Amino acid sequence: MQFYNLKHPTEKVSFSQAVRQGLGKDQGLFFPESVPHIDDLEGLLSLPLVERSCKILAPFVGEELSPEQLKDIVTQAFNFPALVQPISENCSVLELFHGPTLAFKDFGGRFMAQCLQAFTRQSNEKITILTATSGDTGAAVAHAFYGLENINVVILYPQGKISLLQEKMFTTLGGNISTLAVNGSFDDCQQLVKDCFDDQGLNQAIGLNSANSINISRLLAQICYYFEAAAQLYRQRGKIDDLVFSVPSGNFGNLTAGLLAKAMGLPIKRFIAATNANDTVPRYLQSGNWQPNPTVATMSNAMDVSRPNNWPRVEHLLTTGLVDEQCLTAQMIDEEQTQMTLLKLNSLGYISEPHACVAYRALQQSLEAGEFGVFLGTAHPAKFKETVESVLGQPLALPKELADCASEKILSLPLDNDFSQLRTLLLGNYASPLPNEAVC
Ligand SMILES: *Cc1c(COP(=O)(O)O)cnc(C)c1O
Repeated sequence: MQFYNLKHPTEKVSFSQAVRQGLGKDQGLFFPESVPHIDDLEGLLSLPLVERSCKILAPFVGEELSPEQLKDIVTQAFNFPALVQPISENCSVLELFHGPTLAFKDFGGRFMAQCLQAFTRQSNEKITILTATSGDTGAAVAHAFYGLENINVVILYPQGKISLLQEKMFTTLGGNISTLAVNGSFDDCQQLVKDCFDDQGLNQAIGLNSANSINISRLLAQICYYFEAAAQLYRQRGKIDDLVFSVPSGNFGNLTAGLLAKAMGLPIKRFIAATNANDTVPRYLQSGNWQPNPTVATMSNAMDVSRPNNWPRVEHLLTTGLVDEQCLTAQMIDEEQTQMTLLKLNSLGYISEPHACVAYRALQQSLEAGEFGVFLGTAHPAKFKETVESVLGQPLALPKELADCASEKILSLPLDNDFSQLRTLLLGNYASPLPNEAVC
């Protein structure tokens, strides 16, 4: 299948190009030129996760990957479950945090990494993934690409500005994963990354790729767990035409994937986009005016985004009739409501975390009789240990993934907030990964 640039519809690229390029001309997002329709839904839902996901993804990847390659990629990428757990009579949570870095970003990140590996093998080229992180993305990217051939990963982060546990989740791997502790802020890290991508010479010399959240491969992977949720709920309840999904949203990638699942024929009744105080979208759907405010910090910090970069894709799905506009509402949930909801879920016997709480609260405010609610659990509560412990007033055990890396040594190199220093390092890194050296 071809993918076209939403800003310049005549620019069309193949799946592999879309994955490698990330963005089209003028930072335009790629979108599939047609949305395949599922014919035998019951048959599809009865399959195991990997087989079903291959069927869902096959029309998008087209001939560029053989069925065997695709199966291999999906098996490697989705090597952990998505679990639907009951919360109350008319509500369940879809837990997406059972992957190696305990967040839903593992699904998209791992699928993208495996695709890139397959494409670089075919063309026998080497690439460098360069990304800046304020915490969670770094871990998902590092683990997804760890140990892959022909791919070096360089992750920049602001030294001393992320939690020690977050830092340990991506700086202790070594091998093809190099991490640079920048003497600056997260914005400085992002600027350094941008400067690298703007440097055509560097770009070509080391085959730069950003692996960021707008990559189409991530979205396609995320479609699969909406089908997985429906499959489990169909087995549990015998029906799925009353489902309302509440999606905790930041950059709106997760919601885009859900809408694509619906456009493909998964009969989800409707969606709620749940945001924290960064409520550009809820205000936009109310007033019709797109007016981003400055970003504010909240407990659900992975959703602290006021200019969601996937919104043009959502808008496209709604305005072209791929999904009925009535099927999407949005709701802002403030900090106090988020805390109260953490307590409420705890009283129902479920320990959650701020992002999922935003989604559950939005669901509670709008679920109608005859509907069944599903909210997405996007991260393991232990990733937000301090917040959860202080609101609930009880200690939280660390899951094995976090406990294991807590005792490992940080292997980052220090870096000044200086582009030329970074450039030199990257050119050297392309020949062989950076040496590991402890910063602290
Ligand atoms: C990234 C993230 C989100 C937001 O997802 P988007 O696809 O950007 O809307 C929500 N919760 C957690 C825990 C995240 O890491």
